[in-house]
Amino acid sequence: MIIPTKNIIHVALATPLRQHFDYLPPENTDIAPLKIGARVLVPFGAQHKVGIVIGVDDHSNFPKDKLKAVTQILDEEPLLDSSIIALCEWASRYYQHSLGEVLHSALPTLARKTNKKKIIRSQNTTPNDVISFISENSTIELNSEQQIAVDTINQQHNFECFLLNGVTGSGKTEVYLRTIEKHLQEGKQAIVLVPEIGLTPQTIERFTSRFNVPIAVLHSRLSENERLKAWLDAQSGRAKIIIGTRSAILTPAPNLGIIILDEEHDVSFKQQSRFRYSARDLAIMRCKMLNIPIIMGSATPSLESIYNVNQKRFTELKLPKRAGQSSKLDYKLIDLRQAKLRHGLSKELIDEINMHLNANNQVLLFLNRRGYAPLILCHSCGWTADCPHCDAKLTFHQQKNHLCCHHCGTQRPRYSKCLNCQSDQLITLGIGTEQLEQHLNQLFPNIDIIRIDQDTTRGKNALPDFLEKIKNGQKQLLIGTQMLAKGHHFPNVTLVGLVDVDSALFCSDFRAIERLGQLIIQVSGRAGREDKKGTVIIQTHNPTHPLLTQLLTKGYQYFAENLLQERQAVNLPPYSYLAVLHAESTKLHQLNDFLTQARDEGLSISVSSAVKLIGPLPSPMNRKAGRHRSQLIIQAEHRQTLQQWLSTWIQKLSTNKLGQRIRWVVDVDPLEMT
Ligand code: ADP
Ligand code: ZN
Ligand code: ZN
Repeated sequence: MIIPTKNIIHVALATPLRQHFDYLPPENTDIAPLKIGARVLVPFGAQHKVGIVIGVDDHSNFPKDKLKAVTQILDEEPLLDSSIIALCEWASRYYQHSLGEVLHSALPTLARKTNKKKIIRSQNTTPNDVISFISENSTIELNSEQQIAVDTINQQHNFECFLLNGVTGSGKTEVYLRTIEKHLQEGKQAIVLVPEIGLTPQTIERFTSRFNVPIAVLHSRLSENERLKAWLDAQSGRAKIIIGTRSAILTPAPNLGIIILDEEHDVSFKQQSRFRYSARDLAIMRCKMLNIPIIMGSATPSLESIYNVNQKRFTELKLPKRAGQSSKLDYKLIDLRQAKLRHGLSKELIDEINMHLNANNQVLLFLNRRGYAPLILCHSCGWTADCPHCDAKLTFHQQKNHLCCHHCGTQRPRYSKCLNCQSDQLITLGIGTEQLEQHLNQLFPNIDIIRIDQDTTRGKNALPDFLEKIKNGQKQLLIGTQMLAKGHHFPNVTLVGLVDVDSALFCSDFRAIERLGQLIIQVSGRAGREDKKGTVIIQTHNPTHPLLTQLLTKGYQYFAENLLQERQAVNLPPYSYLAVLHAESTKLHQLNDFLTQARDEGLSISVSSAVKLIGPLPSPMNRKAGRHRSQLIIQAEHRQTLQQWLSTWIQKLSTNKLGQRIRWVVDVDPLEMT
């Protein structure tokens, strides 16, 4: 009798189903050399799909005569190595997401396409012993805090989480460069993760000018071919430094020695759709699995990281002073209560702007709301222009002369009459960046103003061009949203004004204050970075807000420790662990029935005493793009309890009939309650 050889191929496919699929080998093919992680082309329903081999076995849970054969084996050598596969398996379990989708998100788009089967491999031709990898020897002499940080990190070869807690401009990047240098000397690779809008030509330049090694840059503006090439350079080991945004965390790097995550608090490290992972947490897990160090840097560390330092899970390294000569910032709160406002600006702020412009300096005004006005209101009857598909108001954009929903993209021509009472007394309420720009043009007719938001920076080179114009002094007054808040270095800016912080102070999300604190410190960090003194002005109707005043008088660390105490008192993360089941449907009754069933199934799971279920609750935005939205919040004291509980629960939900008719997703460690 012939002993059956292993001829069942387990394949992970990019489907939401949390299972693998079994196939037989292609006819007349010896699959002995088939490797885990290789891509295969397989029939799936009426089409073909690219799948990834995750195992070879002699057993299938499906009847063997029903199994189809693999159409083609695409890789002799797998694109994803075993460490990436292990990381994906962990992420699939932790985030309760289909392994197939996780593995596919680790591949560049071109490698996932059925019509692009052959991937031209990159060759690692650079010898590892290149001696001249430093192209520009740094003339900077480290200050003592930087030296301690570099020495501490560089003597660690094993897994350790370092939190580089350094104020903006304290020389964190210089510390990264010195550690990278050490790893390059040892023939290792380094991954550097930066926030989405932090990956500017300026950032890349700091690495390319220092090191004479191939660098792979991975970001969303690359073409598919460029991305594939950069990815393969990392994967083959040719690229010694890999710089990228969130998704670069799953890029294979065979000789990885260290991961650096800059601005670790930044929300863009969390993916908010489909596979909802945190690149920071994946980075930590990747380093743990490889037993190598990780550096997380920030001027405003997340509460989670500060908590981890307090718990001695992270090692904190502090850079409390600005490097070079820059001096301290001067903060002023402006009480808006009863103040006369002109297009959202108080007289005090206008006077201050005038002073700084007259002294030939630059001014940065921050307002996190694009468009002309966030609300159109009928003065006669109180009607407002709402999005027909969302629980949201339409924003008025004057340049385009239309109304637009910032949540679903719905557009309407500008109304000339109230849709309720036909009155023509329509007024705008609130101020967006477009209106602010217009008004400032009137106030300062001789000043060159630049507005930086999503609307003005759509073109590929728009943002870099703008940043250049700011740098070379062509523009004196800068207006910007979130996009201007981080990472950029504007040496001539001496005044930063935050036009409106009240919406964050009154926001219902429990993380809103943490974010506001980070934002204020980050935006302020743009000012006075060289030899000029910086001033920061914050306009608010709530000038006695205790946390706000703590932040400005005692600093971010003090503010964060107090926020942590508040979180502890009400048992919110990081003192407990959360997951959210988001569900949405066009049919309200289906949505409600599903969530009620989901809750009941949850309550029937035995460990449920350690797990609290809250809801169903309508989502903060309870209708979006025509769908009703609700959620169940799951809270647990321990991560592991939550994990076990979730996997049992999701198995039950996967077979729920209603669940197959509506959209639902589980977000583990959610960052935004949307
Ligand atoms: P961060 O990343 O913390 O915001 P950077 O690394 O960008 O800070 O440093 C801010 C500026 O200070 C840069 O121009 C950098 O070249 C300079 N710098 C860094 N370290 C030193 C040092 N030890 N002495 C003088 N200048 C320094
Ligand atoms: Zn009306
Ligand atoms: Zn909408």
